[in-house]
Amino acid sequence: MNIAGVREYKSPSKDEEARQWKPGSSFVAGGTWLYSEQQMSGRITPGQAGCDDAQGIDTIIDLMSLGWTPLEVIDDGLEIAATCRIRDLLNFQSPSEWKASGLFRKCAEALSASFKIYNEATIGGNICMSLPAGGMISLVHALHAEYTIWPHGGEAFTIPANEFHTGILDNKLNPGDILRSIRLPGKWLRREAIMDLRSLTHIGRSAALVIATRDSDDGQVEFSVSASVTRPYQFTFQSVPTTAELKDAIQDGIPEQAYFDDQHGDVFYRRAMTVFLAEKLRSSFENGAS
Ligand SMILES: Cc1cc2nc3c(=O)[nH]c(=O)nc-3n(C[C@H](O)[C@H](O)[C@H](O)COP(=O)(O)OP(=O)(O)OC[C@H]3O[C@@H](n4cnc5c(N)ncnc54)[C@H](O)[C@@H]3O)c2cc1C
Repeated sequence: MNIAGVREYKSPSKDEEARQWKPGSSFVAGGTWLYSEQQMSGRITPGQAGCDDAQGIDTIIDLMSLGWTPLEVIDDGLEIAATCRIRDLLNFQSPSEWKASGLFRKCAEALSASFKIYNEATIGGNICMSLPAGGMISLVHALHAEYTIWPHGGEAFTIPANEFHTGILDNKLNPGDILRSIRLPGKWLRREAIMDLRSLTHIGRSAALVIATRDSDDGQVEFSVSASVTRPYQFTFQSVPTTAELKDAIQDGIPEQAYFDDQHGDVFYRRAMTVFLAEKLRSSFENGAS
């Protein structure tokens, strides 16, 4: 931990106390990222701590002490508290008709150093970080999650996952906002779902990750692309597309500047792997896999 300026550590037991955010405060959930590096201007998740160069974090607000129920089966879906640890989702016994729940483990294991991270990290923390390789982002995006946000000083509202993520370390949260929960609709949990990823190194950071889901009733197929791109992209077809249709959709739909370029993969590699993985999943569906 390299946060030298902290004066106060708050462990609120009431939601209203957690919402008493002020500039210089930072929420903490699992702490796997917050405590992993120096927290000064430019390193903070945008919107999270309101720090400037002269002021680091002086107050930490621990969301874990609120005791939110991690996972709750609701009318038609799954309600996940933002503070639910990723390992709790892995251990969750899903109803048998939720075929897409096989993605829970695969997306958790997509995190680099996953066995160390997913035992402590929370689903909300992963979403709020908004890193391209956010395995939980890949998961909930592919399953059409809806997020509940508690804006600082305002009324709670919901937002679809595909409107929340705007770029690397960037999302629709403003300073002091809290991600409260993530709702996965039953309709999407019941879909067949397959995923694959590529990384330059064994258990390294994902360079490209594609999830394909299919509605067993009407045959609709959707491909969700993440990790290779600065924010997730989705491509929907009324049935399994041809190789050319899928490749064209990806090439036309993802501009070159949307591919992420860093030590975990350059643009050329990430784009090639995206098309390769999508085709692999497409052909699995064509050949009857689920
Ligand atoms: C070795 C290592 C490997 C990693 N690999 C990956 C990887 O492959 N992919 C990846 O995406 N990340 C990775 N990370 C980064 C990080 O650990 C994960 O993103 C993790 O899921 C963050 O969750 P957390 O609960 O620990 O968040 P924290 O560290 O507690 O918080 C992260 C940020 O989100 C904010 N925050 C947390 N919860 C909320 C909330 N409910 N509302 C508002 N703001 C909130 C915090 O204020 C903070 O700014 C890695 C980190 C390490 C150290």
